[in-house]
Amino acid sequence: MDHSVSVIHVQRCAPGIFELAVERPPEVAFVPGDCVAIYGPDGQASRPYSLASGQQEPVWRFLIREMRGGEISPYLATRQSGDRLQLSAPFGWFRPGPVGDGPFVFMATGTGIAPFLSYLHSHPACPPACCLYGVGQRADAVAAEWLRERVRLHLAVSREAAEDAAHGRLTRLLDEVPLGEAHHYYLCGLDAMIDEVSVWLEARAVPITHIHRECFFNAPV
Ligand SMILES: Cc1cc2nc3c(=O)[nH]c(=O)nc-3n(C[C@H](O)[C@H](O)[C@H](O)COP(=O)(O)OP(=O)(O)OC[C@H]3O[C@@H](n4cnc5c(N)ncnc54)[C@H](O)[C@@H]3O)c2cc1C
Repeated sequence: MDHSVSVIHVQRCAPGIFELAVERPPEVAFVPGDCVAIYGPDGQASRPYSLASGQQEPVWRFLIREMRGGEISPYLATRQSGDRLQLSAPFGWFRPGPVGDGPFVFMATGTGIAPFLSYLHSHPACPPACCLYGVGQRADAVAAEWLRERVRLHLAVSREAAEDAAHGRLTRLLDEVPLGEAHHYYLCGLDAMIDEVSVWLEARAVPITHIHRECFFNAPV
């Protein structure tokens, strides 16, 4: 069932990235990793966006990259407090978190950090073994300071040097990844990262059933 909700705010987090907060539809539950389809002005076209807020929060928050020339994200970037938006019910199959008692690892590029933020807001007492986070510019790592207080964070910045990050793509950080038979790995963001990391993990005998993937963006060929 679709919901019509009010925009609470659109806040710039970094050049090209903003947080959209909307009122939470009453009585609608979600699980970290779920996304919601958000509709554009014609009420027909929609795009999925992962919830970045915690399950208990009174608002729903999304972390969105504005794609120049895109149909929906630039529209969302210009919403004002009080505007109405049409959303689908939450849905998804990506479920970051423990499987049994096994350790787990998060790996994200860009706004692919959103489902992991939702998980950590919802389950702060059960963090991953570590979190690898790859961004283009240091300013794009919008949640880095918050994450550092909660998880073992390894940051990579590809397009500039930064004091607190490796210089390069997320794959520069793979030596930091703990390996073990019981580990589960959650990958979210750009298709290229997801593919490369999956190949790397499989080459180290990680079963495919322990590699969980959510692709947000396909890099232009
Ligand atoms: C399950 C799921 C969850 C998602 N969650 C989020 C989220 O939480 N936050 C978020 O920011 N996005 C998320 N996305 C991506 C989002 O759904 C849209 O695809 C994105 O916002 C672009 O939509 P648009 O209508 O603005 O652009 P579109 O009109 O769809 O396309 C914009 C243009 O950008 C091009 N393009 C596509 N990828 C790239 C790229 N990597 N670099 C440069 N150009 C590119 C396209 O080819 C097209 O020309 C998610 C996607 C999926 C599948």
